[in-house]
Amino acid sequence: MNSPAVDTLFDELEMSYEPDNIYYQTISAVLEASQRIGMSHREQLILAQPKNELMVHFPVRMDDGSYQLFKGYRVQHNNVAGPYKGGIRYHEDVYLDDIKSLAVLMTMKCALMRLPYGGAKGGLKLNPRSVSTDELMRITRRFTAALGSNIGPDYDIPAPDMGSNAQVMAWMADTYINFAEINNKVEARSVVTGKPLAFGGSEGREKATGQGVVDVLEVLMPGMGLDLSVCTYSLIGYGNVGSWTARLLAAKGAKCLAVMDHKGAIYNAEGIDAEALATYVRETGSVLGFEGAGEISEEEFYSCEVDLLIPAALEQMIHQGNAKLIRCKVLVEAANAPVTPEGENMLVERGVTILPAILCNSGGVTVSYFEWKQNRQSEQWDAETVDRRLKRIMQDGAQRVLLAATKYDCSLRIASYAAALEHLKEIYELRGIFP
Ligand code: GLU
Repeated sequence: MNSPAVDTLFDELEMSYEPDNIYYQTISAVLEASQRIGMSHREQLILAQPKNELMVHFPVRMDDGSYQLFKGYRVQHNNVAGPYKGGIRYHEDVYLDDIKSLAVLMTMKCALMRLPYGGAKGGLKLNPRSVSTDELMRITRRFTAALGSNIGPDYDIPAPDMGSNAQVMAWMADTYINFAEINNKVEARSVVTGKPLAFGGSEGREKATGQGVVDVLEVLMPGMGLDLSVCTYSLIGYGNVGSWTARLLAAKGAKCLAVMDHKGAIYNAEGIDAEALATYVRETGSVLGFEGAGEISEEEFYSCEVDLLIPAALEQMIHQGNAKLIRCKVLVEAANAPVTPEGENMLVERGVTILPAILCNSGGVTVSYFEWKQNRQSEQWDAETVDRRLKRIMQDGAQRVLLAATKYDCSLRIASYAAALEHLKEIYELRGIFP
């Protein structure tokens, strides 16, 4: 249910709210927050739609000599605070509205953390495990060529997301450099972040999102009467974000009771060894069959009594169908948009605190910013410097959200958007609207 003011904006944009549409869900909450901070009507209209939505189709020669056609997206939501920034997802189920919603979240994330970026997101409709390494390289290079001058180190800077990784970023950067009509080919590497260390990457980028989750928990847990060193948690997803979060939480003493992924769920009342599970998942592709835990059903997973439930996988995993089972004190959104509005209402009614995604998972883009900065200054920071600077930015972001929650008397989700939008509002008011 939208407020009447948000409904009016939807009418003006000729958008009719569909409850299951993730773009409408995201934009409604953002507009709700924009009302609270008193954003001008014209700024609200600008933010309600992405600036550019690019869809490309391109053929690639496969290993067997046949040709296959691929579909890719890049949605550039907003660039008032700096170049567009955001990951590129490789997944068989990517759709324009998902990418649009994720692009909005990137704008919000960068604004909340006061990074000098706007927001964008890309997607390629592909299961990366279904192609060979050579095919993946050719697909990535053709996709980069199709994006052409729609990306660039000062214009739009992609990064890894689900299904893409540092190697994919290296191919993207190399392809871009070969096309770029500029003299400084080395600096052109900063067209993407999340690159391998030897090719302009940053220390700490791979674990950055997980590190950011832990940094945020360290600041916020004492205020919620919880202690990280003795808490229990369950985790959805054991990819980059989930596995790094688990390994870093283990070092703090937190106990992982259950993990679920696309194949099934596992449980161990004594705690699951995060490092051993990471090795197992790398070898087998799933948590299922891990000998350090027993198999449980999806219902049993959601019903686990834990201090923290950490979704670190796809969007909309928690909805009205499973929210009623959940017995956690705090839900930590390591994934983007993991909870539907109906799921959120049910959890809030039962006293669960939700730590919002644009705060919890902004560690990745923050270290991407460090990488971009290092590339442009020909520097290489050590791991300790990256960790220290990341922690500071995460702590400041968390404080901003707490302050906004008090100031606007709202949920942490609306507060996180409000704190982000206050920054964008200030920039819009200084810059004005061209011409
Ligand atoms: N894909 C990550 C995210 O959703 C990182 C984006 C980036 O580093 O630009 O935040």
